[in-house]
Amino acid sequence: MSWKYVCVFACASLLTTLYAAAESSASSTLNKAVAADYNYLDKLYKHFHANPELSMQEFETSDRLAKELKSLGYTLTRDIGKTGLVATLKNGKGPTLMIRADMDALPVLEKTGLPYASTKKQINLEGIEMPVMHACGHDMHVTSLVGVARQMAAMKDQWRGTLQLLGQPAEEALGGAKAMVRDNLYERVGRPDYSMAMHVIAKYPAGKIAFSDGLMYSSADTIRIIVRGVATHGASPHLGKDPVLIGSQIVVALQSIVTREVSPIEPALITVGAFRAGTAPNVIADSAQLDITVRANTEQTRALLLDSIKRVAIQTARTAGVPEHLLPIVGIAPDGAPTTTNTAELAQRVRAAMKAAMPASAFVEWYQSDMGAEDFPDLVNIDPPIPSVYIEVGGTPAEKLKSGEWADHHSPLFQIDHESSIKAAVEAMTVAAIDLLQ
Ligand SMILES: [Zn+2]
Ligand SMILES: [Zn+2]
Repeated sequence: MSWKYVCVFACASLLTTLYAAAESSASSTLNKAVAADYNYLDKLYKHFHANPELSMQEFETSDRLAKELKSLGYTLTRDIGKTGLVATLKNGKGPTLMIRADMDALPVLEKTGLPYASTKKQINLEGIEMPVMHACGHDMHVTSLVGVARQMAAMKDQWRGTLQLLGQPAEEALGGAKAMVRDNLYERVGRPDYSMAMHVIAKYPAGKIAFSDGLMYSSADTIRIIVRGVATHGASPHLGKDPVLIGSQIVVALQSIVTREVSPIEPALITVGAFRAGTAPNVIADSAQLDITVRANTEQTRALLLDSIKRVAIQTARTAGVPEHLLPIVGIAPDGAPTTTNTAELAQRVRAAMKAAMPASAFVEWYQSDMGAEDFPDLVNIDPPIPSVYIEVGGTPAEKLKSGEWADHHSPLFQIDHESSIKAAVEAMTVAAIDLLQ
């Protein structure tokens, strides 16, 4: 081996060592910077937790988020899809990255007993007063977005390009992302080269990062079936058509779609979450209403479920002798969400950057444990699609996961270890942002 080759190999290995050392010192610097900024974020998290707002009514949350980002030098574009906003920080020539946080809370009465628990009530869009709670962790998402904003503003010497931070309304009601796109989101702020989003997840240990190279969440559609009958006296059922009985038969028959029409190795779900009918024990009603959520992991299964539900509802009514002009009305809500699927190459790139900067113990294996859904894909499944990656950050202390003393999302007892999860989210998202903005 000539001296030249020795030098090439020696220099390359020296460079690798130096690069790794520089990277790990940069990452420990970031880790320290996130820790140093935490007190600020802790106060902000408790503010958002105590002041939740329902879907499409996130006015104060949006105002506070805008105020935080404006004070850091970001340029605001507001009122996109009602309460949505984008804060932009331009930092020279380079790619554009969008990071999205959802802002809405749920109509749940908080029972955690936390000193900063919500006591808020809000009139919902149907005019009914509801208790409100951040029972899904979107308060943590908004706080972490501010955390990333603060780090990125302080580290402008380490990245180039444009950072867009997006506050989205109505994720829980699945419609906020679509509302923003319909309200000319990308015409107003420009189309990003990459898009990221994040969710705190109770089933993983607090502060641990997990994401896949492909599927993250199922599709979700809402169906309402109005079963029409013929009203009559409860003692003369033979003179009418009973929508409660027909509706009940539909509920049972729908489950046979999942077990008999979908492949046994393909996930599929039909849940009849609401069944409303009747006014008195001795009256056969003239209608019943079924509200259904439908979940799938592929577009093919999604289409099969939606078609079969319609067929089963109509044929069940026909079997009961309902006249043709009174067959069930089957309506599919327009705000259904497709599957959330990470762009493989981007997920791999982001994972490599995070793994180079954070210890191996910061990650856990991603797995799908239920058929939860997201409307984030409505922000990125446009033409052409925006490469995107969605990450999950664990929210429950490991001891609680072991003992089983933890509450899942949407529970009145939902409570995350916000310090570990916020710190991990800010660090991981900042690492990803700096890697993508070069
Ligand atoms: Zn939720
Ligand atoms: Zn959520």
